[in-house]
Amino acid sequence: MSSGLYVLDTSAILSGRINTNQENFIFPSSVLDEISLGKTARNIEWLREDLDIREPKGKSLEDVSRVARESGDFNKLSKTDLDVIALAMEYEATIITDDFAIENVASKLGIPYVGADLKEIRRIIKWNFRCTGCGRRFSKFIKDCPVCGHSIRRTVKSYNESGNESRR
Ligand SMILES: [Zn+2]
Repeated sequence: MSSGLYVLDTSAILSGRINTNQENFIFPSSVLDEISLGKTARNIEWLREDLDIREPKGKSLEDVSRVARESGDFNKLSKTDLDVIALAMEYEATIITDDFAIENVASKLGIPYVGADLKEIRRIIKWNFRCTGCGRRFSKFIKDCPVCGHSIRRTVKSYNESGNESRR
């Protein structure tokens, strides 16, 4: 059973493959803390408005932590990772991640997950507009990129069977 919602972990957001501004994507606020430690720190305020932020409840965090301890994954998971899994559990969402510890705990909890570069993701993501400067994708047309100020160009993107990106 799936709600049709997706929770992205930090690496999935930073991969740049995924337009974060989609109606069916939700995020814990702690992803912003984790991203702010990286090179994209200046984009945080813009991201905060872009993302559908929801906080996991203490009860689900406890459940996730307990299962992660049992499976030996707890020490490999960041606070954000635990939040991502807890949110997915509460909202019956699918996790988008390439992190093995997250995948392992998710599978023990019966939470579906997909890798950030799998076909499944390609199916749900449709790029329409892309910044000519930073490469960030947008679902709606805007004149200038709110992140770097360069112009936005319309692109249609598809993927071939080998998984490599191609444009048409
Ligand atoms: Zn840009």
